[in-house]
Amino acid sequence: MNDSLIPESLDARKIFARDAVVQGVWPVSRMQRLNGLLADDSGEVEVDLRFHVDEQHRRLITGRVRTQVNVTCQRCLAPMPLPLDEALQMAVVASEAIGLRLPEEIDPWIAGDEPLPLPQLLEEQLILALPLVSRHDEGLCRPAVESVGPEPGANGVGESGQGKPGKGNPFAVLASLKSGDRK
Ligand SMILES: [Zn+2]
Repeated sequence: MNDSLIPESLDARKIFARDAVVQGVWPVSRMQRLNGLLADDSGEVEVDLRFHVDEQHRRLITGRVRTQVNVTCQRCLAPMPLPLDEALQMAVVASEAIGLRLPEEIDPWIAGDEPLPLPQLLEEQLILALPLVSRHDEGLCRPAVESVGPEPGANGVGESGQGKPGKGNPFAVLASLKSGDRK
């Protein structure tokens, strides 16, 4: 894997004509819109892309973006790692109207001949790839923090709690009421 930084922008007039390959990385910390949706800004995006013009004269970007980010589990609110591995198939088009005529599997990126902001384009794709809600797999959540008073025995009175009859089992009272009804 090539671990040099990908270019911040590409010359759209040249890169496709050259049938170029761009490989490298980009830090998640430099994708602010993306990391605003994450638990932290750690991680690096691995990029492996090809820029070419197809038979229909479309300027295509194909390849893969991979990364592992930390998102917040919506059940226990602890961070959890989320691997992303996206196959990319995009066409750089001059207008939205042209973009609408693309086959469904090709995503449009609307731009003219101005420099192509590659990290920004990848950031968009990664944001779209994030699940709406992230949760740990069943049983992997951080245990809930108990907030129900002191530990049993902490004040010298154990669970047997002599002298505090009402505090034992609130359902015991209920149970005796019910059995009383039956008679
Ligand atoms: Zn969780």
